[in-house]
Amino acid sequence: MLALAVKAVGGVERPGQLAMARAVQHAIDSGDHLAVQAGTGTGKSLAYLVPSIRHAMTSEGSVVVSTATIALQRQLVDRDLPRLAEALAPLLPREPTFAILKGRRNYLCRYKASAGWPDDEQEQLFDPGEVSVTGRMVQRIQEWADETETGDRDELVPGVNEQAWRQFSVSARECLGAQRCPSGTDCFAELARARAAESDIVVTNHALLAIDAMEDIPLLPEHDVVVVDEAHELVDRVTSVAAGELSESGIAMAVRRVGRLVEQGIADRLLQAGEDLKALLAVAPPGRIDELPQVLGLTLALIRDAASACVTALGPRTGGDKDDPEGAGLRKAAFTALDEVRDTAQRMLDAFGHAEEVDRAEVVWLDAGTERRPPTLRIAPLTVAGMLREKLFGDRTVVLTSATLALGGAFDGLARQWGLSAAPGDRSGWSGLDVGSPFDHPRSGILYVAEHLPQPGRDGLPEAYLEEITELIEAAGGRTLGLFSSMRAAKAATEALRERLSVPLLCQGDDSTMQLVKRFAEDEPTCLFGTLSLWQGVDVPGPSLRLVIIDRIPFPRPDDPLSSARQRHVAAKGGNGFMAVAATHAALLLAQGAGRLLRSQHDKGVVAVLDPRLATARYAGFLRASLPPFWPTNDPAKVRDALRRLAAS
Ligand code: SF4
Repeated sequence: MLALAVKAVGGVERPGQLAMARAVQHAIDSGDHLAVQAGTGTGKSLAYLVPSIRHAMTSEGSVVVSTATIALQRQLVDRDLPRLAEALAPLLPREPTFAILKGRRNYLCRYKASAGWPDDEQEQLFDPGEVSVTGRMVQRIQEWADETETGDRDELVPGVNEQAWRQFSVSARECLGAQRCPSGTDCFAELARARAAESDIVVTNHALLAIDAMEDIPLLPEHDVVVVDEAHELVDRVTSVAAGELSESGIAMAVRRVGRLVEQGIADRLLQAGEDLKALLAVAPPGRIDELPQVLGLTLALIRDAASACVTALGPRTGGDKDDPEGAGLRKAAFTALDEVRDTAQRMLDAFGHAEEVDRAEVVWLDAGTERRPPTLRIAPLTVAGMLREKLFGDRTVVLTSATLALGGAFDGLARQWGLSAAPGDRSGWSGLDVGSPFDHPRSGILYVAEHLPQPGRDGLPEAYLEEITELIEAAGGRTLGLFSSMRAAKAATEALRERLSVPLLCQGDDSTMQLVKRFAEDEPTCLFGTLSLWQGVDVPGPSLRLVIIDRIPFPRPDDPLSSARQRHVAAKGGNGFMAVAATHAALLLAQGAGRLLRSQHDKGVVAVLDPRLATARYAGFLRASLPPFWPTNDPAKVRDALRRLAAS
């Protein structure tokens, strides 16, 4: 069956792909979870789709495939699945079906687009220029609303900002429910759900997968097998879904939604509590909050109680509004906003309820805000392992896959974060498999560590780094992707090197990332510098990319509240916080960054890591074992020679 599928999509069957398809089939049959590392070029989507389709068609429910990026979603739904469905149809009782399903916020809400839903976004914008930009986007959404057949935000190109989109979308909690909503019969989100319920394969994203697992009401169709592709992103996406925030502007928005539905005095109490929070956050130092200051505790309690009073004053949540959908919409929006404020304030108070570090479950921090975003209190879980173990892995078979899962050569690090026990094969029922890569890494790529350079400091890029980058790029004749650990470093390097280099140099932010990558791919000498989204999102096979430069090991910043709290929590439980959190994070990103180099079997080149700690530090072995097996060297002359030879070939 796999052979036929491979032929249908015009590829060649590879040993890694076959091994992966067999392992996925075995996982589905046995019910054991599976983590599969499959390098770029393995053809991993076919390797999991073929057994998934077979299972979906012989069982009652669907198979859910979850991705982290829109690019992969599109590839599955627009390319892989249509071709596969057609090719496999003769072997199966009928042609397999598939659909894409996202969270309700991703679909245009026909009711909100047409009715008088409370408009709560405008006042949050600090910058008047931004209002007109948003106004134009709103107009574009209105025009698009008349034409779209799916209401799917991702089909609106170019995209629109969050403020504009929120005026046309609702969260699952705000939705009136198809039964009560006047637009319920042709609601885009409901139609997408109905299509998904009839499909063998349902493609979704990690956020919806997490919400489906966490909430009592199922959002995804019935399924007993989930494939998590881009699984290296799972923990971050689930953490984002489980995180909460509280700010004066969020509270003011809740008050606006309450509007005239309650007595002015009751709403004013909440407004005043929000003002108190604003005054407090304006003078508080940003960062992690380990002990609850008394005044913050009192303010959070005030906010909670004032939001509760508004909820009580709103009266019963249901009933009496069948003939007044507009009123029902306003009340639902008010309840949702108030519940959110009250529950988050209580959750933040609870986060400080344990004297011992080991007993803590969440971390609270103050995000200083920017010109356009007010200071905000945030809260996130210290681990999502328990939630994933119970809710995701508990009653279905999960296949996790990515090009990067075996960090330091083993799956244990990520498995622990997912809530699977450390030893594969024991009774939590999971196994790990590395099917390798079709690329010949030692022959095609060099890993160069600039051991002679000083350690990177806090104050920007040292001159020695700029000289090293210049020499490497000149030897490669451009063709360089520069992956920097911060936007500041990427911009500083671009500014300094534009004067020294004769090749064109693009920097992230000069244009949309998609356009920049296109220009980089189309013109061989052009170089592209940037930060995080380039570490994972660039796929440029061929001679335009011969050199990947990484300025420093991408550890999380020491003052990053979430990762520092997670490190401390692991340490309090007797583990090695640095290795479990910071080194694991760095290994994942390094492997992703290095993975930009070889994108097809004929690619060749160099990954140059300027940070000498990758050669000298005690954790260097762990990080290097997370990288593809390139030919290693610390000799700059050898590397420049190799790059010159490549440029001349
Ligand atoms: S059912 Fe919900 S999402 Fe759909 S149109 Fe009505 S309110 Fe909007």
